[in-house]
Amino acid sequence: MAGFRALAREVRNPRNSTALRRTSLRKCLERFAPYGHRATWHHLCARAGLAPDDRGPDPARLIIALEELEEARAVWLAYEAEFAERRRREKHDGIRQPSAIDEWHRRTWGGCDIVPCATPLHHPTARLADVLRRMITAMESGPGDDCPICSQGPIEWRDDLERYPLSGPVCATCGVVVPLSVLTPEALSMARRPRFERRYAGV
Ligand SMILES: [Zn+2]
Repeated sequence: MAGFRALAREVRNPRNSTALRRTSLRKCLERFAPYGHRATWHHLCARAGLAPDDRGPDPARLIIALEELEEARAVWLAYEAEFAERRRREKHDGIRQPSAIDEWHRRTWGGCDIVPCATPLHHPTARLADVLRRMITAMESGPGDDCPICSQGPIEWRDDLERYPLSGPVCATCGVVVPLSVLTPEALSMARRPRFERRYAGV
């Protein structure tokens, strides 16, 4: 099975058919898809001006989409390397990590569903690398009251998510499923309240 970089070369190769270049880009998402496969594809298409179902797109737009994905992957790989090194040092010194960040890393190792979205069509509009940086900062700095990606919210508890996690707090503005560990207990209990109660609470 080809790795991400080999697939990226196929996307760039002008001797390949446009269809093969597009297929190679989609296969890159099997290796790295921060929002999950479908949501990441939809995001890249929207930002690069590609129609998601167009089998013969402009190759220049495929490259724009690939570059955005590569930039985000570089951010993530640098963080994984830094995290692994920190864990190694802490293990050596006999220090244990807090479990929340460990759990996030177990789930996202390899780069899929780092920032899962509740539905494939609703995801942050910012550049993928910026969104990853914001999530990494939130994980590193501990719980807050707002959405770690857009700071707008409101955050609403949902029990009807299509894939893992099947329930959780979702930002109504940018569509991400917010990891429990980046929200304060107050923000979580507000998210669990019915919508009309939150309105009266001034949120
Ligand atoms: Zn948000």
